[in-house]
Amino acid sequence: MNQSTHLSSSLPTARRQPLLLLLLALLLALSLWPITQSVWNKELQQLQEQTHNELLLHVTGLRGKLAQYEYLAQLLTEKEDLRPLLLAPNAAENWQQLNQRLDRFRAISEASDIYLMDAQGWTLAASNWWRPDSFIGQNFAFRPYFQQAMQGQQGRFFGLGTTSGARGYYFSYPVFDADTPIGVLVVKIEIHAIEEPWRDPLGELLVTDEDGVIFISSRPEWRLLTLQPLEQQRRQHIQHSLQYAGRQLRPLAIEYLAEFDEQSRRVRLSLSREEERDYLMMRYALPELDWTVHIIKDLTPLYRRVLLSGLLTGLIFLALILLALFIDQRRHAQQEKRLWQQQAHRQLQKAHSQLEQRVHERTADLSASNQRLLQEIQRHQKTEAQLRSAQKELIQAAKLALLGEMAASINHEINQPLSALRSYSQNAVTLIERGQLETAQDNLAIILELTDRMAEISAQLRVFSRQSEQKLSCVSLQAACRYALRLYATPLAQGKIHLEQDLPEAELLAWADMVSVEQILVNLISNALHAVQDQPQPWIKISARAANRQQVVLQVWDQGGGIDPAHLDDLFTPFYTRKESGLGLGLSISSRLAQALQGQLSAANHWHGQLSGQGQPSGAVFTLTLPRFDGDPDTPLSPSTRNRSASGTPPQQARSHSSEPSV
Ligand code: ADP
Repeated sequence: MNQSTHLSSSLPTARRQPLLLLLLALLLALSLWPITQSVWNKELQQLQEQTHNELLLHVTGLRGKLAQYEYLAQLLTEKEDLRPLLLAPNAAENWQQLNQRLDRFRAISEASDIYLMDAQGWTLAASNWWRPDSFIGQNFAFRPYFQQAMQGQQGRFFGLGTTSGARGYYFSYPVFDADTPIGVLVVKIEIHAIEEPWRDPLGELLVTDEDGVIFISSRPEWRLLTLQPLEQQRRQHIQHSLQYAGRQLRPLAIEYLAEFDEQSRRVRLSLSREEERDYLMMRYALPELDWTVHIIKDLTPLYRRVLLSGLLTGLIFLALILLALFIDQRRHAQQEKRLWQQQAHRQLQKAHSQLEQRVHERTADLSASNQRLLQEIQRHQKTEAQLRSAQKELIQAAKLALLGEMAASINHEINQPLSALRSYSQNAVTLIERGQLETAQDNLAIILELTDRMAEISAQLRVFSRQSEQKLSCVSLQAACRYALRLYATPLAQGKIHLEQDLPEAELLAWADMVSVEQILVNLISNALHAVQDQPQPWIKISARAANRQQVVLQVWDQGGGIDPAHLDDLFTPFYTRKESGLGLGLSISSRLAQALQGQLSAANHWHGQLSGQGQPSGAVFTLTLPRFDGDPDTPLSPSTRNRSASGTPPQQARSHSSEPSV
């Protein structure tokens, strides 16, 4: 698969991935928001309901607690006959008894203090008569509960005790003389008794007055703080009433974040310098008391739950997204793999068809060139055959032309012995008739010689004229030599000619025609014998060797004085002879036979066996070069024989040729 294809198939996936991720992240964010929102709403609603219930519970408890004491003051004013005491206040004994009774009532009712004031606000009797900081003798005319009671109504008041500084709630009721209030009975309860059961680790409870001053709180440090900053006028009023014993009323470190409904809102409170927390704040108004009860609930657990659910949802979404991505990735990987495989398969198929096409073309080329080669070979063979036949025809034509030319000399050569034969025959007849048998015998011998001479001429001409068909085969040079020498055994012996043979022991094989080789050899030996006939120590030598891997060489040496260098080129010309009785055809025919065998016949002089030298040569050397048969003689074909077999002539085994020479 090439790079570009791979990239083109993988790029859309790579480009799509971040887009997909972005989309999924957006989806995640979009889906997380409503989910966390709904969790928040649900949790908040639950918390609101629960807090509201708690608030109601506390309010009910508070109301119940206050209701316990609400009518106690009235009850005591009506039960105790306080009017005479107030009208005649000087009876000290009576006062002491009242003090003790009030103390007893206080103990029974679990109130903080019960005391009686006259119309000017002076405390005449008190349950805490025995304490050093007893109210007796103190004036509380400035207290609103006194003023309310002096107006003939039940009084209620919250404030800090001027003596004790403790937070207290005061119920007051007037003591009437007829319809005129002449004194006030007060029941004071301490606030911490109300706060006690409000301990809640997850929330705080506050009660504020109409000015927003926190006077009851489960957190002591928030007491006497305000929910909002007070106006100057209200502050002065509170200061003046000594309601909070002249305390500085600082605002609570509260921040109002959101209002859920009329009763509830979300606030942030600074618990310390470092710690801030969000709370749900719910309020419940108690109009009869001008109080508002607040409950605040820590939102941290709710935040945690919402965060946790958001995280969980996010994780689930993330897991789903990752799963989706993984599946998508896998699908894409498989798709890409499939694509890759398809592409590879296509390319393989393409390569295969290209290869097939190439093989097809190459095969076509090969068969075409084979065809051309065959045609070329055929044409070559044809040309070769034509050439051979033309050469043969040419030789034949030359021979015939020469024969024509030779006609006169042949005529002379034949006619002379013929007329000599005639006269010798007549003489012989005459001599026999005369009885001169010896002389007749001599004549007959001459006749015999003459017929031999004529036979030789005839034989030579026959060879010359014959259009021999050369049959190529594997020819042993040693065998050819043996055959030729056997023919000359007698002349060699008679002439006492020393024959030297330098032939290798192993058969030396030529690819030639046995008859032609023998003809050439016979001619050469004949000429050599002729050349040495007058030598005092006649010597001839026949040698054979391999010239190289392709050629073999056969040489006939003699010691007949050599050839005149001026005539070396003429030797192979037909009818060139320097012999008296020579025809001058032997070498020219031999040369042509050698050429027809793809060989060559050459002549040279030698100086005692050396081809180059100075002075008078010692003799001539004729060299016949022939193609070498380099195969095993037992093997029918060798590379060279195969080539030759292609020419149509089957190779033959080397043989000892024993047939009659044609010459
Ligand atoms: P011919 O033997 O009939 O003369 P050849 O063609 O065989 O015809 O020889 C041509 C001539 O070449 C011979 O006449 C001779 O003069 C010369 N010749 C051939 N062989 C030898 C040789 N071995 N030594 C010297 N001369 C030779």
